[in-house]
Amino acid sequence: MMLPSDSRYSRQERFAPFGADGQQRLRAARVAIVGCGALGTVQAEIMARAGVGTLRMIDRDIVELSNLQRQFLFTEADAAEQTPKAMAAARRLALVNSEVAIEPHVADLTPSNAADLLENIDLILDATDNFETRYLMNDFAVRECIPWIYGAAVSSYGLKLAVIPGVTACLKCVYPEPPSGAQPTCETAGVLASVTAAIAALQCADAMKILSGAEFSARLSTLDVWSGEMRQIASPARDPGCVCCAARNFVHLDGSRRAPVSLCGRNAVQIHERARPINLSELSERLGKLAPVRANEFALRVALDAYELTVFPDGRAIIKGTTDVGIARSLYARYVGA
Ligand SMILES: [Zn+2]
Repeated sequence: MMLPSDSRYSRQERFAPFGADGQQRLRAARVAIVGCGALGTVQAEIMARAGVGTLRMIDRDIVELSNLQRQFLFTEADAAEQTPKAMAAARRLALVNSEVAIEPHVADLTPSNAADLLENIDLILDATDNFETRYLMNDFAVRECIPWIYGAAVSSYGLKLAVIPGVTACLKCVYPEPPSGAQPTCETAGVLASVTAAIAALQCADAMKILSGAEFSARLSTLDVWSGEMRQIASPARDPGCVCCAARNFVHLDGSRRAPVSLCGRNAVQIHERARPINLSELSERLGKLAPVRANEFALRVALDAYELTVFPDGRAIIKGTTDVGIARSLYARYVGA
């Protein structure tokens, strides 16, 4: 048997279960990564180096100093310049593998833009931090019959589960409702880069297996990098009464508008109910009379009293310093416009 030539993908092609055939399939594949944080940046780096055809990266936020401990791809300069995560990741990935078509989107995945942002995608990698977006992804993936891979991590533990619509349990089969009560978050309980990187790597292994056409059986994997405990169990059974994959009632996708969302555990509210273009340089000039403004073409940030407003060109804003939707709305109306 002749070994493949010493191409950039040779080590992965020599892994027999993947092979040159798997590489060709991966080259033709389009993957979306929803969220560009601790999970998403590791997924993006692995998939780009592996030679996926298209990598679409969707993230609504900008790089901050506290991200650098676990979010690969980003630099101190990205934090200083307040670069949106999707753009910073795309810039870095273009240097890593110029053969990959990188499609960054600075946007929040919502019911109204999900069909556009996830159009022509073969597989979705979950790198979000909230159930609302995961249910939306799950609805879309089940409706369009696209595999997606759920992943989550906090403190030292995490889990991943592949969802193959029509074959395995979907997220609604496993969690008909979001887990109730206060859940630990990365802000309250912290998180280790070793666990987010490990979960992202497991998600990518599933993605490459699915995209290469290898035989695949979904398994729920959990691990704790601190205690060292790791478990793998068969994917939970499908729920014959599942509102999503059985009844095909896509309640999370159907809502064309949602209320503003309190960002999970972040003492911040996102306002995204006013989809309208905003001229950031004009706004920068106006708010600059009140407080120092930092702005670039992607985002504007200003600290006003105890609050910090970050405004994006599409009219979206993240207001830090409150979880009160009313306060956030009135700050938005006062400083950005009603
Ligand atoms: Zn289901």
